[in-house]
Amino acid sequence: MKQQLDEILAQGRELIAEADSEFALNELKVQFLGKKGKVTALMKGMADLSAEERPAMGKVVNEVKSSLEELFEARFQEVRELDLEKRLSSERIDVTLPGRRLPKGSLHPITLVTDEVVGIFSTLGFGVVEGPEIENDYYNFEALNMPRNHPARDMQDTFYISEDVVLRTHTSPVQIRTMLKQRPPVKVIAPGTVYRRDSDLTHSPMFHQVEGFLVDRQVTFGDLKGTLQTFLNRFFGHEIGVRFRPSFFPFTEPSAEVDIACVICGGKGCRVCKDSGWLEILGCGMIDPEVFKAVGYDPAVVTGYAFGMGLERLCMLKNGINDLRLFFENDIRFLRQF
Ligand SMILES: [Zn+2]
Repeated sequence: MKQQLDEILAQGRELIAEADSEFALNELKVQFLGKKGKVTALMKGMADLSAEERPAMGKVVNEVKSSLEELFEARFQEVRELDLEKRLSSERIDVTLPGRRLPKGSLHPITLVTDEVVGIFSTLGFGVVEGPEIENDYYNFEALNMPRNHPARDMQDTFYISEDVVLRTHTSPVQIRTMLKQRPPVKVIAPGTVYRRDSDLTHSPMFHQVEGFLVDRQVTFGDLKGTLQTFLNRFFGHEIGVRFRPSFFPFTEPSAEVDIACVICGGKGCRVCKDSGWLEILGCGMIDPEVFKAVGYDPAVVTGYAFGMGLERLCMLKNGINDLRLFFENDIRFLRQF
């Protein structure tokens, strides 16, 4: 029996040392010291021993039992510490690691150009106004001297929402809305999105314009020329050749289209300017008296000028971009360059 006990103790020592979790240790403890465990079974066998043998044997059994208990207790302690260490190292935060950088976006080139144009006109004393992109026929056409069936309406391929509601084809309705709200002098620019049923290499169904106009007493075409020359010089960063060509718009009289000396070849002639040396950049003119009448201004008292230009065109010329579609494809490789 003594020998059996020694074996149990040796076996226990070995298995306890191998157990690597509290769960495994608990299982083992039941096997050795539980009600149906190995030690308990041996103790039951003591009933068969003689009265002389029993006390000595009982002492040995108790020693083995308490040895096993001590071994279990010690191993439990170790396993708990190991567990804790494992958890601490897996949850450790290395504060010396560099932070993860979030990818940073950039402003769209059209936004950048809009901001720049607004900035230049602000320094010239122009305020900024905005209007709705879904517009009544009245503001988009009629008040701008384009009554129904006026041939000039065919110049713009319009998106109609209903008979009287359109996606604005230009930023000019903002002129009407502003003048209806405000008495002269008025000096504002109106940047915004406009829409036309047109889509090819050089046209997009949605694009951006900036409209500018000034109404006061004794405003002349000379004021218009001076303002535009100043703007173009600042925008392109140098004194730039400008020419005015007579043109027609229903809402201005006289009207002109403005060309600048080609910014690619400097006026010598190249593919971009089709060898003419000039690039068309904007339309402008003196506000038609009919428009003043529509907003309740007296054309005998005030005069004014208006101009409008495409922001995509300005951006393309300034940055040497040759495909309009790049602005709307949202290719990150293109956008990152700005
Ligand atoms: Zn050129």
